[in-house]
Amino acid sequence: MKITLDTDKCCAAGQCVLIAPEVFDQRDEDGIVVLLDDAPPAEQHDAVREAAAICPAAAIEIQA
Ligand code: SF4
Repeated sequence: MKITLDTDKCCAAGQCVLIAPEVFDQRDEDGIVVLLDDAPPAEQHDAVREAAAICPAAAIEIQA
């Protein structure tokens, strides 16, 4: 799994951080998403897929 983010789309909703806090964080100053791990281990994959599905801005892209 490889993750890319479109930070221009991110609306700082923070849903991804709640679902996968080991992979996503938010910038202190404006809440825009920060990628902590662009190739997370297998046990994180379900959470990352859920985060991508729930992101209101469709800012999270996953390559298998
Ligand atoms: S869920 Fe989407 S819009 Fe919200 S912080 Fe994460 S990437 Fe940004």
